[in-house]
Amino acid sequence: MENKTIARTLRLLSQLMELHEVNPFKIKSIANAAFKVDKLPFKIADKPFEEMEKVDGIGKSIAAKLQELLTTGSMAELQELLDTTPPGIVEMLGIKGIGPKKIAVIWHELGIENTGELYYACNENRLVEAKGFGLKTQDEIRKVIEFRMANSGKFLYAQVEKIAVDVQEQIQRLLPEASIMLCGEYRRRLEIITELRLVIGTGDADEAIAILQQESLLQDVSVDSYTLSGKTESGLEVNIVVIDIAHFYTEVFKQTGSDEHVEAILGRIKENNLRVESEEDIYEKAGLPFIEPELREGTDIIAQATENGLPALITYNDLKGTLHNHSTWSDGVNTLEEIALFCRDELKLEYLGICDHSKSAFYAKGLSIESVLNQHEEIDHLNKKIAGFHIFKGIESDILNDGSLDYPDEILKRFDFIVASVHSNLKMAEEKATERLIKAIENPYTTILGHPTGRLLLSRKGYDIDHKKVIDACAANGVVIEINANPLRLDLDWRWHQYALSKGVMLSINPDAHRNEGFYDMHYGTLVARKGGLSADKCLNARSFEEIKAIFAARKPQ
Ligand SMILES: [Zn+2]
Ligand SMILES: [Zn+2]
Repeated sequence: MENKTIARTLRLLSQLMELHEVNPFKIKSIANAAFKVDKLPFKIADKPFEEMEKVDGIGKSIAAKLQELLTTGSMAELQELLDTTPPGIVEMLGIKGIGPKKIAVIWHELGIENTGELYYACNENRLVEAKGFGLKTQDEIRKVIEFRMANSGKFLYAQVEKIAVDVQEQIQRLLPEASIMLCGEYRRRLEIITELRLVIGTGDADEAIAILQQESLLQDVSVDSYTLSGKTESGLEVNIVVIDIAHFYTEVFKQTGSDEHVEAILGRIKENNLRVESEEDIYEKAGLPFIEPELREGTDIIAQATENGLPALITYNDLKGTLHNHSTWSDGVNTLEEIALFCRDELKLEYLGICDHSKSAFYAKGLSIESVLNQHEEIDHLNKKIAGFHIFKGIESDILNDGSLDYPDEILKRFDFIVASVHSNLKMAEEKATERLIKAIENPYTTILGHPTGRLLLSRKGYDIDHKKVIDACAANGVVIEINANPLRLDLDWRWHQYALSKGVMLSINPDAHRNEGFYDMHYGTLVARKGGLSADKCLNARSFEEIKAIFAARKPQ
């Protein structure tokens, strides 16, 4: 065994001991031994026990641990600690800049068990108030996690948006005459991006390649015939296809859709050397209406286009209000009044549905019954004070383990609407998790099912549920399903939107904002809803104030 491996094992042992608050002297001696072993000029594993214990910083008890490690491949003490620590917490110990003491707070006080949840908590400002943390530490942790995410080569759509526009603008400056289009995963609005793909149409492809190669636009540049590849500073892979201007739209089409989609369309055309003035021409030649880029994943959409026609996809401007948001009453940053004015004056919306956390969400300062009543008083007051705008009384009720909601009926009936979400016990088996959700959906007070799987993209898999059963239950009970617009969630997954819509279930694009900037996430929610094929008439918060007021009133149990 190499010194490095031994040192790493000892370091992990000392970190875990610190995390579990074992005797501090022992922790220090093990951490010190790890440091010393790492620097030794000889292989410690080759030494007999008698020599090992004499090495500076090791001594008898650590030498015994090393013997155990070398003969069995592990250490009982380490294994015991590993067994009582969630794997996500062990992984967190490897993140630079967060020591075991801080991780203990993150784990025990904030109830966070992996880096995905930690990243989400940073974005929701939840770390700032925990012991030993401040805004600076929170920002540092966020940066480190972002760096690690980038190292995987995968990015959230929202992380790529600015990079994509920058790359396109830089190329346009270098090639002012060229036509440039962002294609691929980005144009299809996939929730996770592994590559930026651009098509450049120009009169002189060789010259364009030469210019792009000379400039330090990308790192690690290589050229393969007329494709230039490289990486951005942030580690995102970029592929640029340079083509003769006459074939620009054909190439844009080819580089946008999934392979399956592109092949199916071209198969309907049977024309070599396809030259067109626009992508619309291609679909026309294929005997089809224009298919929006975000819908070009497979071939189902082609069947839909020929049989029923295509939906008019929703746009950001179709949204009339915003549901499921948090204020200072629970874990939000802005006051109710600040949020209402922001939504009315900046976002030009007609209404806000406030849904602070319910009482079981202690880590998020969930509302006691008394706080609910006080908040309702404030809402009544603000609704009189703020003209041309309405605040609906909502709550994000935790779905408890048995599927029940978090307050007694006499409190539940005071709300205009209720978003029911799971926040705890995320590791249930599929059948139990599905039953739990269905019980909540069947509760007559539930209006919207919040972030149905609890997933955090790139970091936490959602809990397993039987999507069809859950959606069918929503259809049977008239419950709306949320498209949580936070770029880390985008949950309900777009791959299930069509099924939900086909069952007559409405969807709602909810920002789950914890601060005013968070409302802009509705942009990402709208993009992914378009990808799912949502039209404005099937979107709850595209309804006007009068319409939604009537919907809420009609749904309330008498
Ligand atoms: Zn939630
Ligand atoms: Zn929420």
